[in-house]
Amino acid sequence: MFTVEIAGLTGAAAVRSGQRTLKVAYNKLSALMRTLGSQGIRVLSINGETQANTPEPAPAAPVTSSPAPAAKPAAKAAHASVPVNLYKPKAPFEATITENYSLLADGAIGRVNHITFDLSGGEPQLHYVEGQSIGVIPDGVDANGKPHKLRLYSIASTRHGDNMQDNTVSLCVRQLEYKNEAGEQIYGVCSTFLCDIEPGAKVKVTGPVGKEMLLPEDEEANIIMLATGTGIAPMRTYLRRMFEPTERERNNWNFRGKAWLFMGVPTTPNLLYEADFNHYLSQYPDNFRYTKAISREQQNAEGGRMYIQHRVSEFADEIFAMIEDPKTHVYMCGLRGMEPGIDEAMSTAAAAKGLDWSTMRPALKKADRWHVETY
Ligand code: NAP
Repeated sequence: MFTVEIAGLTGAAAVRSGQRTLKVAYNKLSALMRTLGSQGIRVLSINGETQANTPEPAPAAPVTSSPAPAAKPAAKAAHASVPVNLYKPKAPFEATITENYSLLADGAIGRVNHITFDLSGGEPQLHYVEGQSIGVIPDGVDANGKPHKLRLYSIASTRHGDNMQDNTVSLCVRQLEYKNEAGEQIYGVCSTFLCDIEPGAKVKVTGPVGKEMLLPEDEEANIIMLATGTGIAPMRTYLRRMFEPTERERNNWNFRGKAWLFMGVPTTPNLLYEADFNHYLSQYPDNFRYTKAISREQQNAEGGRMYIQHRVSEFADEIFAMIEDPKTHVYMCGLRGMEPGIDEAMSTAAAAKGLDWSTMRPALKKADRWHVETY
């Protein structure tokens, strides 16, 4: 069973807002995510603690509105060596924090930190690949006096870690904050624990989990990345693997395709890892493209907030032409609300060519070219 913690409007009359938890079996999780998404209910966390006893756990709940056919046998074989569940919730690894700093510039909204954990000394050594997630169990107990459940976070560092020593993992964490039904300001348990944590502190971690967001092996693949806020985490790992000189030297993988990042944030100071991305742009202008949707500073064609899906709509024909190329993969991470607009833009672009997006998207998924991890 999974425990899903939600916030937002609940009930048919949509009169109640606040936080509650739901229990759901693994095979019902995707359907529940779709239902919650369609009702505008925000998922705060998913705890898959007992799932960790199974050989292939669910990552941070990929949600797609298409059926989830099995990946191609070739893709499955390529993924067979990807590590999963080296550490489980009942016997987590105790990592040591080495760094915790803000990723935001002056004037940004909220708190988003880059937090690095030292993983050395474990047996087995906790290792992972780009696109996976790890679990964090915050210290302390819940309202019932029980230990907190784990929360999954997308990994923001490559398998080598930011220091290239193969013994750290970094996360990009936004402190969750919202008002409950009584109007009180509530802060997320685990995200606050992590944003406040000091170097030297020990933290229980589990995983890694997830095979939904893995990069293809092909050095000539085209990679379209759609991220909102901290959904940038896996995209940072891909971009480092593609363009960071130390990564290129170290890996026998010399990316030569086109990488196109769409990034959605509320304000310019909220842009994450901006200096690195601008550096990649200057070094690889023919391979990297970077398009921003700065919701509270830019307007869409209707005069509303500029979201990722509006940018996708603007470039829909170009994106669609890329998707028609079998070398192109699409990765989406962040808010689930971006998905319908992206589908709409792709449907229009497909229809202009006499094609049907509603059959194309499941086919892309089946071909392991459409990767979604949204909440
Ligand atoms: P955020 O700052 O709250 O939002 C990022 C941007 O998305 C803002 O510009 C926001 O605009 C915009 N946005 C709001 N509603 C949208 C919609 N319906 N469609 C498109 N864009 C929309 O982001 P965050 O809190 O860092 O994180 C984003 C979400 O990603 C969180 O829910 C987090 O749990 C999730 N996440 C998921 C994964 C995963 O699945 N593995 C990993 C990391 C993060 P305005 O605020 O101006 O309206």
